[in-house]
Amino acid sequence: MDTLQQKLQKLTRNLWWTWRPEVRAIFRDLDLDIYHKAHRNPVRVLKEITPALLEKRADEVDIATRTDRALRQLNEYLNPLTTWGMIHAGSLQSRPVAYFCAEFGIHESLPIYSGGLGILAGDHLKGASNLGVPLVGVGLMYHRGYTTQLLDASFWQQDVSEPFELDDLPVYPAIGADGKPARVSVELPGRLVWAKVLECHVGRIRLILLDTRDDANSEEDKALAANLYGGDNRMRIQQELLLGVGGSRALRALGITPSVIHLNEGHSAFAILEWARHRVQQDGMEPWAAIAEAASGTVFTTHTPVEAGHDKFPADLAEEHLRALAEGLRLPLHDVLGLGRTNPGDLGSAFLPTVLALKHCRRANGVSALHGKVARSMWQHLWPTRSEHDVPIGHITNGVHVPSWLSSELNTLMTTHLGVNWMEGIVRPDLWTKIAAIDPAEIWEIKKVLKGRMLKLVRERQTAMRARQGLPPLDPAPLDPDALTIGFARRFVPYKRPDLLFTDLDRLDALVNNPQRPVNLIFAGRAHPADGPGKALIQKVGQLTADPRFRNRILFVENYNIHIGRNLYQGVDAWLNNPQRPLEACGTSGMKVVMNGGLHISVLDGWWAEAYDGENGFAIGNGEIHASSEVQDKRDADALFRLLEEKVVPMYYRQDANGVPRPWIHAIQRSMRTLAWRFNADRMVMDYVRNCYLPAAVAASCQMPNP
Ligand SMILES: *Cc1c(COP(=O)(O)O)cnc(C)c1O
Repeated sequence: MDTLQQKLQKLTRNLWWTWRPEVRAIFRDLDLDIYHKAHRNPVRVLKEITPALLEKRADEVDIATRTDRALRQLNEYLNPLTTWGMIHAGSLQSRPVAYFCAEFGIHESLPIYSGGLGILAGDHLKGASNLGVPLVGVGLMYHRGYTTQLLDASFWQQDVSEPFELDDLPVYPAIGADGKPARVSVELPGRLVWAKVLECHVGRIRLILLDTRDDANSEEDKALAANLYGGDNRMRIQQELLLGVGGSRALRALGITPSVIHLNEGHSAFAILEWARHRVQQDGMEPWAAIAEAASGTVFTTHTPVEAGHDKFPADLAEEHLRALAEGLRLPLHDVLGLGRTNPGDLGSAFLPTVLALKHCRRANGVSALHGKVARSMWQHLWPTRSEHDVPIGHITNGVHVPSWLSSELNTLMTTHLGVNWMEGIVRPDLWTKIAAIDPAEIWEIKKVLKGRMLKLVRERQTAMRARQGLPPLDPAPLDPDALTIGFARRFVPYKRPDLLFTDLDRLDALVNNPQRPVNLIFAGRAHPADGPGKALIQKVGQLTADPRFRNRILFVENYNIHIGRNLYQGVDAWLNNPQRPLEACGTSGMKVVMNGGLHISVLDGWWAEAYDGENGFAIGNGEIHASSEVQDKRDADALFRLLEEKVVPMYYRQDANGVPRPWIHAIQRSMRTLAWRFNADRMVMDYVRNCYLPAAVAASCQMPNP
């Protein structure tokens, strides 16, 4: 018989707990202080709690029964009788999909993500787990993680590295076919670089992570994968070879032969070449046939229309780094370089992993309908004989993993009104019609609780930040809980225009300080450590929040991450998204807000362009784009102010005798009813299975000479 401590340890080993509030509550109830100090990481909670305290709390809050129940549920989850995947993705059972991504955002205690791409990858794994789709994730173990954001007294972003211990995470050595911890090597200029193969379990899904802290490596190479998106082009191409080539070799070392590789962004595009190289070396295939086979088994998703988001490796750097793959492929180096060139014959030109992937895949897609269109136009030059319409890039709109982002209070409400297994039917529109029958007062009560919790966190963070900046806490505490509270949190880059509302300070003052109808604004977001203009935007917004006119109404929360994000999405009344159209590929934070009973206020960009129906939230502007971005910014700022002044604020304050804003809650109900069934991870993964994975799996296996 396991002791309680051992049972709890078992529970921590599968990241299933990240989306099971009742399991996280077990660890929280052990000791709230320890829980938060341990960054809500159950492994660390167990290390830090004394046996005496564990015993005491076990009695007080019935830890033993709850742990047994959770273990039983985990066991049932891991051994299902039937899943959607068994029925609809049967042909992937013996040979899964390998999902490659440079970052994975699964929980705040595993900081190997920076933002949207990573969170989406994490949600994809979780969605695949719930559906039982045979899929394995492949990524890198950045042992110094992504940086933590602190703002100094001038609101300039400091990037603090907080290395974490693997011992504190449910990440373990992956055991190879030979029974030993697996290792792989990748040829980099002048040396072999080794990586340990680690794995963690995200429900039913394995996530393979490569760690370069291997004894065979030089100190420099041990640090190769220390930081996410750190370093220069040379470090990037080496990390990308590690991910694409090393990741493919890691799968092989574990006896996994994928039928499809799903590459997310160009970062992992070298996996295509490694697939082909292996077939040439192992099975004596002809190189071009091997490349064609690899292409037919590849699904490629591009996640951004922003130019800077696509690596461009100078010719000499690419030459130096692709030599080993070219030899393995038995092809002239120039031919291999040509695979990633806009014009293959242009010998001095840069190598773009995105081009390699776009031109060598079975299916390519953008992440919203509008982004698909933008991507077709952006990459049309790769297919000079085709019209834009015929460029082979489609779209699958992103979705979010609802159990990870939904507050437990709303989950309970849905369970009451939509049924016990409502989440299993989440993609069914008819399920969501039941939302309309819920009493608005009931939704309002819950929103008040969520908002209160969020405000508490946000104020605590602000007090801590001010203390570090040498300032006393604000008195009275900022942000009136009865005021309409709008959130804005995302990466700070110019195209997202976090300062749009600050282009007219008098109008902003009148808006937020209206005595009858005040408005709170909460900002959060990080800039890439090397992004000066992004940091300058944070500084600008941060300093304006300190302006006496704004400091009780507008606040900047440091260190936007999964934890802060979850609290904001759950607590705000509305969410603001005002990028320069059409540069936001999709955006997912607004979806998380909608699921939690908030309204989306957005430019008609990304997912909102296909989601907005005139009544399920708010649109800034009408989608028209002016050639001058200055004119566009002015127009959008004016449209945003007018929208807030004339529609959003009045609707929120149209409250009945009991203080319930009925029109507002009706809009929330409409928003959930029309959006929740579409913009979730289950629908997204189903779309990938049907439209991408199954066709690619069939295509690749047809070409196998020796299956
Ligand atoms: C969802 C999420 C994102 C991505 O949201 P966008 O709308 O694409 O900016 C980024 N960071 C965190 C922490 C998130 O939870």
